[in-house]
Amino acid sequence: MQEKKTGIFGFPKGYPTVLGTEFAERFSYYGMKAILLYYMVATVGKGGLGFDNTTAVAVVSMYGALIYMSAVIGGWLADRIFGTGKIIIIGGFFILAGHVVLALPIGASALFVSLALLILGTGMLKPNVSTFVGQSLDNEKDYDYVFSFFYVAINVASFISPFMVGYLQNHYGYHYGFGLAAIVMGIGLFVFMIGRATSLKHVKTPAPNPIKPEERGRVIGAIVAGLVVVAAFFGITANIKSGSFALFNNGQFNSALMANVVAFLAIAISVAYFVRISGSKLVTKVERRKVLAFIPIWLAGVSMWAVQEGAGSVGASFIEKANLHVGFFDLQKVWLQSVNPFVVMILTTIMGLIYKKYEDKLPNLFSRYALGLLIVAASYFLLMPAAAQGHGFSAMWVFGSVALTAVGEVLISPVTYGVTNRLAPKSFESQMMSLWLLSNSVAQSINAVTAPLFISNANLYFMIFAIIPMIFAVILFIFRKPLLNLVEN
Ligand code: GLN
Repeated sequence: MQEKKTGIFGFPKGYPTVLGTEFAERFSYYGMKAILLYYMVATVGKGGLGFDNTTAVAVVSMYGALIYMSAVIGGWLADRIFGTGKIIIIGGFFILAGHVVLALPIGASALFVSLALLILGTGMLKPNVSTFVGQSLDNEKDYDYVFSFFYVAINVASFISPFMVGYLQNHYGYHYGFGLAAIVMGIGLFVFMIGRATSLKHVKTPAPNPIKPEERGRVIGAIVAGLVVVAAFFGITANIKSGSFALFNNGQFNSALMANVVAFLAIAISVAYFVRISGSKLVTKVERRKVLAFIPIWLAGVSMWAVQEGAGSVGASFIEKANLHVGFFDLQKVWLQSVNPFVVMILTTIMGLIYKKYEDKLPNLFSRYALGLLIVAASYFLLMPAAAQGHGFSAMWVFGSVALTAVGEVLISPVTYGVTNRLAPKSFESQMMSLWLLSNSVAQSINAVTAPLFISNANLYFMIFAIIPMIFAVILFIFRKPLLNLVEN
């Protein structure tokens, strides 16, 4: 019972502060990511690092997967030690430090230090801001519209930041672009800290299942074991001279090996998490049923993110073969990356207003999920004739496809934050949100592993990745009543 209305659109008290924090973090994330690849491949003379293209692409896609995988660390830290409020601030400082390191002209070593700080910091902040929003709500009916505006903030950030960071990079250099990301993150963190002391004071966020003294030894042991395994992996693979288990083949970074390892980790961590949460003694019978109900939603999420995140990899590569001249107009390849946030930002605003006014009159949440998944599937089917043509097809197919995926995403992603919150067992509140972010990580790593199929047979690739969300659409539609029952009760 923590909710207090401000009257501003009926949002919970302090909510604009949380929106601002999420906006700042996403602004810095998407802005930095927009110039990261170019920074790595640009020559040293042009202010870049002079990496080869394959290595740079591998680093970007791995970064995308790890940024959401690290959410498991942040979720655990919130549930077991700090609670969401504190860990958001700690994570914010890590992210700020990561961007500051990039803003300074230090070079390649700074890049990897920065990426490590950003991955850890985002893992601490991102799932917990979402959980924090859920913790500030107590009225069932508020979830969909409150999380919709949360999602609007995310997408306004991801729409505008590449333009602003890109502008600074073009006119002044890479480090100014990264500098803007740092400044915006700094403001967001500051605003959250002030908010915690004022408008958000009523949101209490103690760790729901604080670690017991006798567990400490085991936890430290697990962390050390994890670090040893990672060090051993790099130590061994870096020493193998060539072949699929060598980290470098003739000096070339083995991106296929890394993609496989990251995908394996993402899937293994997800399975382990589901088993651990549903098997925990702290979870009641009803809570366990809710965790099981989350499995088909989570899998549907993976199938949706695979297509949605594909815009940056598969889409970016596919548009290279398209005819960009449309009517009297020449489209720019880079615009493709702005289509998703643009469509999502507008449609989610509309959906948020609809949820607020007509929540009771809308079709079952899971029928809406099913529709979203069918639309996502349609967006890849739409590309099959173009893939069959091979090249010279109109770029409008690719732009249209990305826009259509965004329509499907709007029906699925914003409301899933609230669904995750309501299905989470009390002791695993933040970790369930981390699990939801993991679905994105799994999808991105599957994309990295299956990229060779896209290169060799794009048509088959689009067909397979369209059929999978269709299957989940059918499953969620069939079980829509019991699933809704578990979410609402
Ligand atoms: N577009 C989303 C974001 O940046 C993707 C992450 C997610 O919600 N799983 O927040």
